[in-house]
Amino acid sequence: MNNPILEIKDICYSYHTLKGETPALSHISFQVEKGEFLAIAGPSGCGKSTLLSVIFGLLVPESGEILFHVTPKEMPASRHQTAGICPKMGYMLQHDHLFEWRTIYQNVILGLEINHQLTPDKIDRVTEMLKDYDLYKFKDKKPSELSGGMKQRAALIRTLVLDPEILLLDEPFSALDYQTRLSVSSDICNIIRSTGKTAILITHDLSEAISLADRILVMSKRPATIKCDFPIHLTLSDDSPLASRNAPEYQGYFNKLWKEISDENYVQNTTPLK
Ligand code: ADP
Ligand code: MG
Repeated sequence: MNNPILEIKDICYSYHTLKGETPALSHISFQVEKGEFLAIAGPSGCGKSTLLSVIFGLLVPESGEILFHVTPKEMPASRHQTAGICPKMGYMLQHDHLFEWRTIYQNVILGLEINHQLTPDKIDRVTEMLKDYDLYKFKDKKPSELSGGMKQRAALIRTLVLDPEILLLDEPFSALDYQTRLSVSSDICNIIRSTGKTAILITHDLSEAISLADRILVMSKRPATIKCDFPIHLTLSDDSPLASRNAPEYQGYFNKLWKEISDENYVQNTTPLK
């Protein structure tokens, strides 16, 4: 790797409860390049969300270390993972977690309010993003008045306006119906790429991983290890949500990934292509 922003080195993590120990992550190592869009796929319950929580700093690994290489003043050039949330990461979850008692605008500025960053510059940026992502007209509506895709876009603006270096996306499209999911995922992926952010997307949908990511890691079943690491290069004819799925390389990647995960009791909503 030429320019890694993040290095995960030999991470192990187990949950300890009254019922005993549940090993979730076993010797996980990989790097993420600055500006890369990395997808991580793996069977349900294998430890994908645990891995994101460890990267975000919500969980402290039993062993191993996480190094960040970012330039902004607020962050040291690198640091050992410790308890606490890294200020330069944004975390987006499966459900948009917008608050119904706040308008879309009030939801979008929530992170800025909490972080005491509601400056005129940031307010201008919020307005610009609401316009860019076709939400400006809806800024005074409540979340329940918007479609699922619009709510996810609002959640993304709330995350992006804090200017994170790294975006952690934990199955952010899985609550959407299939058609909405195709266009919203492609939309959000374009937004992330155009801002030059580094993203780690957890998904159980191989088609989504192939169509959105520069590289895919496949995790084994629990305790998770990294089973394989696939770079993805698609020849795209246009930038429609379906373009990547029609790319000539798509089927080959799908079949290779399917083969890798088929012995992991992997369950997902797509059948293998011939
Ligand atoms: P995934 O996101 O891949 O579906 P998770 O990372 O959520 O999987 O969970 C990995 C494993 O750890 C699962 O078997 C789950 O039951 C267990 N687990 C997750 N959270 C906890 C917790 N707070 N306490 C105990 N076990 C947990
Ligand atoms: Mg999960």
